Amino acid sequence: MSKPVLIVGAGPAGLAAAGALAGAGQSVVLVDKESRLGGAPILSGYAKLVPSGEWAKDAIGGMVRRVEQDALVTVRTGARVEKFEGEPGSFRATLSDGSSVEAGAAILATGFTHFDSVNKPEWGFGTFPDVVTTTQVEQMMSSGRGVRCPSDGRKPQRVAILLCVGSRDRQIGREWCSKICCTVSCNIAMEIREELPDCHVYIYYMDIRTYGLNETYYWKSQEEFKVKYIKARIAEVTSDGQKLIVKGEDTLVKRPITIPFDMVVHAIGMDPNVDNKSIAGVFGVSLQEHGHIARGSYGTSGATSRPGVFVAGAATGPETIDDSIAQGNAAAMAAFAMVHQKAAA
Ligand SMILES: Cc1cc2nc3c(=O)[nH]c(=O)nc-3n(C[C@H](O)[C@H](O)[C@H](O)COP(=O)(O)OP(=O)(O)OC[C@H]3O[C@@H](n4cnc5c(N)ncnc54)[C@H](O)[C@@H]3O)c2cc1C
Ligand code: SF4
Repeated sequence: MSKPVLIVGAGPAGLAAAGALAGAGQSVVLVDKESRLGGAPILSGYAKLVPSGEWAKDAIGGMVRRVEQDALVTVRTGARVEKFEGEPGSFRATLSDGSSVEAGAAILATGFTHFDSVNKPEWGFGTFPDVVTTTQVEQMMSSGRGVRCPSDGRKPQRVAILLCVGSRDRQIGREWCSKICCTVSCNIAMEIREELPDCHVYIYYMDIRTYGLNETYYWKSQEEFKVKYIKARIAEVTSDGQKLIVKGEDTLVKRPITIPFDMVVHAIGMDPNVDNKSIAGVFGVSLQEHGHIARGSYGTSGATSRPGVFVAGAATGPETIDDSIAQGNAAAMAAFAMVHQKAAA
C-alpha cells in the first residue's frame, strides 16, 4: 500500500496535482500556510483571468471545491513543513503544529511572491495614493466597486499602466520577464475602457510580450478599445498637486515626454517566493541563481535536485496559470509512478 503524496502549496499548481492524484486513487496531504486554498488568484482577489476570461473565483474556486470535497485529499491549512526526513517511498514531514505526516513523495507547489513596488520608489508607489498595482486594480474589479482613484473615489479620466515593474530590471536584481503581466495589462486596459468609456488608457512598454495572444489582447486593445501604447523609458512619477505626472523618454522618437494622469498602475512582476530559502533548507533542494526552486533534468517531469521531491508552477519561476496547472499534473504523474514503484518493490 503506497503512502500519501505530500503537496505543499494549494495554488493552481498544487490544486491540479492534488486533483490528478486523487483522480487516480492516490491519497494526498495538501498543506498551505494560508487559511484559504487557491493561491494567488484567490488570495489576491484576481478578477477575470487571461486568456480564458473566466472569473478567478469561479475557475480556481471550482478547483478548490473539488479538492476540498475529495475524500482522498486531507487539507491542512495554516501549516508549514518544518522538517522533512527519509527517502523516496518513505518520508516523514513534521508540520508547524508539531504533527507529522508520512509521505511517499512530495510536490513543492509553493508559488511566487508579488513584487513590492516600494522597491521602485521613483515610480511613485507608496508616495501617491493614486499610484496602484495591477493586483489592486484586479481587486477593484473583482469586488464590483469598479476602477476608482483611491485618494478620493473619483472615476479616473486618464490612466497610465507601466509595464515591467519589478521585472527585466537589473538595477534592482530582477532580470527575468514575468511572462504574464503584458497580457494581464492589455486585459485590464480593455476592461477599464469598457467600464469607463471616457477614460483614456495608455500603456508604457519596453516590449510587448503577449505570448501567443497578440490578436486577442495586443491588437484588439488598440483596434477595438483604443488603448494607446507608448514605447518608453520611464524616469519618474511625480505630482503637480492635481495630477500624477509620468516623465520619461519616448524611445521611438527619442524625445522626452511628460504626460499627466489621474491614476498610474504598476504592472508588478513575480518574485521568487520569499520562503524559498527556508523551503530549500527543509526539503534539501537546490535553488537556481535568482532564488527560484531549481528544476532537475528533463528525464523526470517536475524533478528537483532531491529524488522523491518534485516541483510545479511558479515555484520554479514566473508561470501562467495554464502552465502551472500542466506542471502540477505532470509532477503528480511522476510522484504517482514513484510511490507505486516503491510500494511494489
Ligand atoms: C497581478 C497578476 C495577475 C495575474 N493574472 C493571471 C491571469 O489572468 N492568468 C494567468 O494565467 N496567470 C496570471 N497571473 C499569474 C498567476 O498568479 C500564477 O500563474 C499562478 O498563481 C501560479 O500558481 P502556483 O500554484 O504555482 O502558485 P501560487 O498561486 O503562488 O500558489 C502558491 C501557494 O503556496 C502557498 N505557500 C507558499 N509558500 C508556502 C510555504 N512555505 N508553506 C506552505 N504553503 C506555502 C501559498 O499560500 C499559495 O497558496 C497573474 C499574476 C499577477 C502578479
Ligand atoms: S510579460 Fe511584459 S510586462 Fe511582464 S515582464 Fe515580460 S515584458 Fe515586462
